[in-house]
Amino acid sequence: MSDDLVIHVFTLDFRLKDNPSLYHALECGRVWPVLVVDHAHDPFPPGEASRWWLYQAIQDIERQLGRRISIFVGEFAEVLSQLVENFPVKGVFWNHYFDAYHLEQERKLCKALQQRGVAVRSFNGTSLWDPWSVNKDDGTHYKVFTPFYRKGCLSGPYQPRPVLAAPTRMHYVDVTTLDAGVSLRDCGILPEHTWHEKLEAHWDASENGAQQQLKIFVENGLCDYKKGRDFPAKKHVSMLSPYLHFGQISVSQVWEAIAACPQDDNTAHFHSELGWREFSYYLLYHFPTLPAQNLQAKFDRFPWQKDEAMLRKWQRGQTGIPIVDAGMRQLWQTGYMHNRLRMIVGSFLVKNMGHHWMEGEAWFRDCLVDFDLASNSASWQWVAGCGTDAAPYFRIFNPVTQGERFDPTGEFVKHYVPELADMPLRFLFNPWEAPLLVLQAAGVALGESYPRPMLDLKQSREQALANFKTLSSSN
Ligand code: FAD
Repeated sequence: MSDDLVIHVFTLDFRLKDNPSLYHALECGRVWPVLVVDHAHDPFPPGEASRWWLYQAIQDIERQLGRRISIFVGEFAEVLSQLVENFPVKGVFWNHYFDAYHLEQERKLCKALQQRGVAVRSFNGTSLWDPWSVNKDDGTHYKVFTPFYRKGCLSGPYQPRPVLAAPTRMHYVDVTTLDAGVSLRDCGILPEHTWHEKLEAHWDASENGAQQQLKIFVENGLCDYKKGRDFPAKKHVSMLSPYLHFGQISVSQVWEAIAACPQDDNTAHFHSELGWREFSYYLLYHFPTLPAQNLQAKFDRFPWQKDEAMLRKWQRGQTGIPIVDAGMRQLWQTGYMHNRLRMIVGSFLVKNMGHHWMEGEAWFRDCLVDFDLASNSASWQWVAGCGTDAAPYFRIFNPVTQGERFDPTGEFVKHYVPELADMPLRFLFNPWEAPLLVLQAAGVALGESYPRPMLDLKQSREQALANFKTLSSSN
């Protein structure tokens, strides 16, 4: 067994199990665990909630290893090339990214290391299918989810790799004998203000926490996932998204765990949601401008509104539309928002308020613990109708009927909008239509204890449709 010094760079893979890069690095020699914090160079750096999670994830790795990892602040390629220059490193291994900035960095690094004769290996530790391995028969890229998933993935030539066995040896170097970099506390990851402290009550952001979350879901949530996943008050979603994003659980581990359950519509549907995650990476890889440009260029001419005061109300859950406010407050309080709510608040921002989807993307990027460049950009483009396989622009969610349908007992809204806790169900989702006596009996004073709606749902919907018409006719 070789004693060569091999760097494993932690990327979005904060786990010791089923980690292809770490596994192969350990098979090759003594492993130097390294992390490069390059947020200052990344055009889409993670926001505050995400950085809080990252901090916990690194702490967890250090706890599991029983030692520090070397943390460096700077450009990915530059930092790693420098390490190779200064130390007798024989190989640099990592699990690759799919976004344009990091792919460019990886290319630069490969070139520099290969010139020096250092072994360079990057692995797919993030997705089930390599985005470049899924192509249509004519060699072009899929733009629509169902054929991508069914034909390109499930019936394609490759299948998800099996989960890796535990490495046969664990040989990590003491990083203080090489270069320990900066301490976790000093690397600038943890946001300065303490907003994120409230997140601690909601999450165990560790590899073990991820496994526990999967277990809870398989035992309690999966049985009615297909239907139950649409009801935010029910516990039928996995809440695995931040763990998957940070790689504290691998998507292969999740895929296999679900495949090992008795197969039915719920397991198939859950697998297909992981398929949406695959599709997002696929789009980001093949359409690298996904976070920054409308995939349908005609939307570049859309007459978006800009109203800071309205945006602020949306961000703070003070729109006066209860289901929208409940979703936005869930995000603010827990760093997570149920998928049904993401669609409702997204439609409200882009269509009723007429704001650009990038304003929503940016807010989610700052507040979501599961912020993921691929899923966030692809989903916002989907909501706005400008993506490849998008909800048509003219499909505008009615937040009142959405609330009635998907929060039928009002439990979710009453939890996050306690000002309306005593409102009868008939008016819980539309308190502005309630007679004064009903409002008084529920202790609600519109404009005082709870905002009046900041816009008229019917008028704003008509305006959105009129705007969309001009777009279609100018095409
Ligand atoms: P479950 O229903 O338990 O699904 C299991 C896993 O499948 C999720 O953890 C996730 O990895 C994947 N998944 C499910 N739905 C989707 C989807 N539509 N697109 C991509 N992957 C999916 N997801 C993120 O992980 N990060 C984001 O930044 C993000 N931003 C979004 C923004 C908007 C406007 C919308 C509408 C959706 C966004 N999503 C994002 C997708 C989806 O809402 C979340 O993945 C899901 O709500 C996470 O909760 P869960 O783990 O309980 O999901």
